[in-house]
Amino acid sequence: MRISIPKNHPRAVSLGIREMLVDGLKAGLVVEEGLIAHGRGETFDYLIGEKTTPSAIMAINTAAALLLMSSHPIISVNGNFAALCGKEIINLSRACGALIEVNLFYHSVRRERAIQNHLEKLGATDVLGVGRDRSAKIPNLNGERKRVDPRGIAVADTVFVPLEDGDRTEALIRMGKKVIAVDLNPLSRTAVHATICIVDNVVRVIPILIQMILELKGKNRHSLTSMIRRFDNLRNLNESLKLIRLGGSEISATV
Ligand code: ATP
Repeated sequence: MRISIPKNHPRAVSLGIREMLVDGLKAGLVVEEGLIAHGRGETFDYLIGEKTTPSAIMAINTAAALLLMSSHPIISVNGNFAALCGKEIINLSRACGALIEVNLFYHSVRRERAIQNHLEKLGATDVLGVGRDRSAKIPNLNGERKRVDPRGIAVADTVFVPLEDGDRTEALIRMGKKVIAVDLNPLSRTAVHATICIVDNVVRVIPILIQMILELKGKNRHSLTSMIRRFDNLRNLNESLKLIRLGGSEISATV
């Protein structure tokens, strides 16, 4: 039986997110390992103050510009992302014209179908990367994640990959694709190798990203291109690290 979380509990939002993942586990979207990966994310979320930082806003803004400038953007969906952001995935896909593809580290046909059904119930019309559709391959990548849809990740110019592992990000970059990652850990291989890494909780990122895409839609290609050119991923990650260090020194000063 589940206890109800008091709204004024200091960790109410964080506990609510945990419940979404537990519900996702029960519904067959999430695997146990996904809960542990979320725990790693929570730690970093705690350290950045559980809010969207100015450097994350800068990364989200650039990601919005890149998605609008891409001719074949794809949103790669795993179990945690589907459980946390179901409806927002569809809204994001509509806002920037990106297709949705399922890609799982801990792959099973049953889970792939569960994620497809979940997204279709929420309004998705064409979920790629399911069953026989995984007939193309990402070169030099181990495991089931290398199997991708020939209409999707295989031919994408930009791949949006929240909660990703570093191997696949590196493999996609080697294929010449742009990768937009969402990862609370600024030290992960994903964060470092992505074209743009947004260091923030994916639950907070997607609504802001959709808003920024809608705002940037009226801008000309030249200004979007210069926004993308100005962005330096490693410098942006270092801003997140500085903020984490600063948080630590502020606490010691007040104790
Ligand atoms: P890498 O292979 O890139 O070095 P890793 O081995 O930590 O990273 P995973 O085990 O796949 O990769 O973990 C997933 C990543 O997702 C973790 O870095 C974690 O910080 C991040 N993460 C988990 N939950 C969230 C969330 N809700 N929002 C943003 N990032 C998250």
